Formats: sequence, C-alpha cells, structure tokens
Amino acid sequence: MTAIAQESEGDGHARYTCRLRVSSGARTALEAEWSRCRWLWNECCARSKKAHRDGEKCGPARLDRMLTEARTAMLWLREGSSVPQQQLIRDFAKSRAKALKDIKARFPMRQRAGMPRYKEKHQDAPSLNCTRRGFRLKSGRLHLAGGIAVTVVWSRDLPEPPSSVHVYREGTGAWYASFVVLAVPADSLRLGRWLHCGRIPASQSAMARKAADAAIGATKAALVEMARKHGRTAHLVHPARTTMDCAQCGARTKHALPLSERTYTCTACGVVSPRDKNSARVMLVRAGLQPG
Ligand SMILES: [Zn+2]
Repeated sequence: MTAIAQESEGDGHARYTCRLRVSSGARTALEAEWSRCRWLWNECCARSKKAHRDGEKCGPARLDRMLTEARTAMLWLREGSSVPQQQLIRDFAKSRAKALKDIKARFPMRQRAGMPRYKEKHQDAPSLNCTRRGFRLKSGRLHLAGGIAVTVVWSRDLPEPPSSVHVYREGTGAWYASFVVLAVPADSLRLGRWLHCGRIPASQSAMARKAADAAIGATKAALVEMARKHGRTAHLVHPARTTMDCAQCGARTKHALPLSERTYTCTACGVVSPRDKNSARVMLVRAGLQPG
C-alpha cells in the first residue's frame, strides 16, 4: 500500500493524451461545466485575496465550506456536477499553498509559483479535472460526472485503469483527454544498453570526452524518463558500426564510409540507399523492429 501511495504522489505516473470527438451537445455541456468551474476559481481567488488582506487563513477546509454555501445558494452552480467543482477547490488550494511556500522560502520573484490568478472567459481555454469518482470508461467512451459522454480516439491502449483525467480544449478548438496512469515499472520497458549517438573523436581531450559522455548520459536518462512518462517504449541501440552495416542483408563494409560519401552501396547484396536512411534502418533492426 505504501509503495503505491508513494508512487502516486511524486512524478511516478504516466500521462496518456488522446484526441476526443465531442458532439455539439457534449460541447455545450463541457463549456457550461467550465464556466461554473471558472466562476468558482475566480471566487476562490477573491476569497484568498480578502483572507490575505484580513490576515485570515484560507485553506482547503474554508474553501470547501464556501463551495457548499455557494451550491446551496445558487441553482446554476448546483446544476453542475460536484466532482469537478470539488477537484477545482483542491487544485486551487494546492496552487495557493505552493505560492505561499515559495514566498516563505524567500525564492526570488521569477522562481516563485505565483498566487493563482483570475481566469478569463476569452483567454483561458476550458479545462476540467476529474478524479476516479468523476469519470468512467465504457466501451471506449469517456463518461464524465454530470452525464457528459465523449468518444475517445485511442492512439494507444492504457496499461492500467487511469486514476484521473484532465479534459481540455486547445486553442485550435480540438478537445483532448489526458489520462493519468500509475507508472509502468521501468523494467517493463524493453531497453538495450546503449543509445545511438555520434562517435566522440579520439582527438578530443580526456576532459572533453568526459563532458560529452556526461551529456550523452543525461540525454539518455531524459529520453528514458520521457518514454516512461508518456507510456512509450524506448529502445536503446548499440551505436557501433551503424553506418557500416547493410540494413538489407546485414553485411558489413570493410571500412567506415567517409562523411562525404552520402550513399551506402552494399557490396554483398548490391542495395543502394541514402547513408542516413540505411543507418536508421540498421537501428530499427537492432531494436528488434521491422523497418518500413
Ligand atoms: Zn546488403
């Protein structure tokens, strides 16, 4: 149990983003949910500013009480689902707490998270967060609390049921759902040992070589991490002689091609292809994939 809780707290999750097909009815409903959430967010901003002026606290409990009162008083707010509204209160409280922490830590201004700011109708695109209670997936469709159903264009299968979803509209007008799935263990990624990279010339000094090695190591770590985060598979490939091997038959030329030679010609099978394309295919073969 502890292990799972720890994983979900840190960055130990992967995001899967898919395009959504949204009917005009669903779009109206999503936009209505967003306008309620935006109102609530701005109300939180106003309360938090006032609390700051008056030297009062404005934590999640107080904001939660504010939400209950507002929902009792306003039918319009009550018409929206309570799940994204409660989530919004938590998101707001978190972002306010982060800003206060940065101020307390006396971070330089530009490094601070900044207090949550007001959201404007024509500047901030719709965006809704739903936790497990607020959505379900049924026959490939995404059902959000409040009876909104949208079709997900699945580009990949989710390895596990998602713990939350972020539904948002981009500037282009396209809608997306970003599902959060607990991290797939790193050992399930098929990883080789090396990353293809430029050879470090022997003429470089030991220091320069060390620096280049470190840069390659950092790039490799970043690639593996990005693959994990986005639920992709990273294949690391041994870089040696990728320019000398033939992608077609696997034969190896006796000498490395000079950089000026842009075409690979195989003496064994006679295949002729652009040098970089041949190398790319060799890497695909080494990764256990089928070159197209
Ligand atoms: Zn060949």
